[in-house]
Amino acid sequence: MEEGEHKEKCFFCGKLFNYGLHRWDGEFVPHYKLLVCFRCQKLNADGLNPIYDAKFEAHLDSHNILRPPRDINGYYEIPKK
Ligand SMILES: [Zn+2]
Repeated sequence: MEEGEHKEKCFFCGKLFNYGLHRWDGEFVPHYKLLVCFRCQKLNADGLNPIYDAKFEAHLDSHNILRPPRDINGYYEIPKK
């Protein structure tokens, strides 16, 4: 790891991504209190893959965050800043 390089784990896919100092491949979403990588945001642009629903809901419930409405297709929107 280079000096100043920092990695964080994506809440959804669980993979490590660059989170500074020179490269940012994900972001912290304050409203949902979680870190999500840009790859997940891109892959779930049309709605959150239902495989993550249970994990996402458990996280929201444990942090007393209101569950967002699902879209017309029944998907949650992928968290974004
Ligand atoms: Zn991810």
